[in-house]
Formats: sequence, structure tokens, C-alpha cells
Amino acid sequence: PLRIGVLAIQGDYDAHATALNELGAQSILVRKPDQLTGLDGLIIPGGESTTFLKFLERDGFLKSLQSFVQTTPTFGTCAGCILLAKEVQHPHQESLAVLDATVERNAYGRQIDSAIYNGETSLPGGPLEMVYIRAPRITRTGPAVRTLAERDGFPVLVEQGHLMAATFHPELSSDRRVHQHFLDLVRNHQSA
Ligand code: GLN
Repeated sequence: PLRIGVLAIQGDYDAHATALNELGAQSILVRKPDQLTGLDGLIIPGGESTTFLKFLERDGFLKSLQSFVQTTPTFGTCAGCILLAKEVQHPHQESLAVLDATVERNAYGRQIDSAIYNGETSLPGGPLEMVYIRAPRITRTGPAVRTLAERDGFPVLVEQGHLMAATFHPELSSDRRVHQHFLDLVRNHQSA
């Protein structure tokens, strides 16, 4: 089976591990930089991106992760999407800077900050349930980024080569198409 790491520093990493296991992949909870070795892919879950950054600044974790995400399939959800983006605003903060996109944090304001939507997606199988929790908004994507789903005209699910990002939480829905798409991306990357 594919060995997929889930960054387990903070946030809802367990739900991602469950989704991966249901799809027949082996999930590995990653808490130290040396656990990145030998993985076929990685999921960076939602949570609080500033908390992730604080933790990653210890033990050279940020540097290891930076080189990992340049070559190995990685899927960032919500805070994970913020960490992958080249540019982070509202406020500006450091990131792994691999996904050619600009992301605005906490973009939906307090009243409507968390919600469940059913939206169109180019993934086969019809509309997709999307759970948003204090979600960021992707306000710009570069030419290499492909949009797989949008909300109000803004991309919410994207891919760029070996990278994938969602501003919502696919692990909190029972529909496994988004995780399956990531596993397909990992396989395609290996055979490429
Ligand atoms: N608001 C969080 C941040 O800015 C992201 C929220 C989430 O991951 N659900 O990092």
C-alpha cells in the first residue's frame, strides 16, 4: 500500500488517517522531521497555521518539510493550504511557498466563518460536500494551478503537479473522492 504521512502536530489529523485507511493506504502520523523519510505522500491537515509554524521552527522541521514538499506529493487542507501557498495575507506570514497561489486567511468573517456547502466539482460523481471552518480564500492562482472546485468564483480545491490543496475539510465528510484523487495523484507521480 501507499505510505502516506499525516502531519500530526496539531489539528484534525486523525480524521485524515481514517480516510486514508478506508481507501487502503497506510497512514503514518508524522511528528518528527525524520519520519518524512520514505513516505509516498503527505497530508498537512487543518488547524491553526501560526501554531504549525511555531512548532515547525524547532529542530529544523521547517527546512526538512520545505525540501520534502518540493518533490513529494503533498495535500494541504485549510491551514495546510495556507502553509503550501507562495503568498499568505491577512496577515502576511511565512510559508512553505510551493503552491503558486495567494491565500487570504480567515477570509469569510465571523458570522459565516464555518459552514457546510454542496458545490460543483470537476471530480467525477456530482456535487461535493464541503465543510469550511474559519477558512482561507485562494485569491490568486498561477498558470500551473488547476482548479477542481470553486465557491463564489474563488478556487477551493486545486492541484499543481504533485501538490493539492483545499480550503475546506474533506476529511470531515464521508465522501472520499478528494482523498482518492490525492492517492491517484501520488500513483501518477510515481509512474511519471
Ligand atoms: N483559520 C486557520 C488559519 O488561519 C485555518 C482554519 C482551519 O484550518 N480550519 O490558520
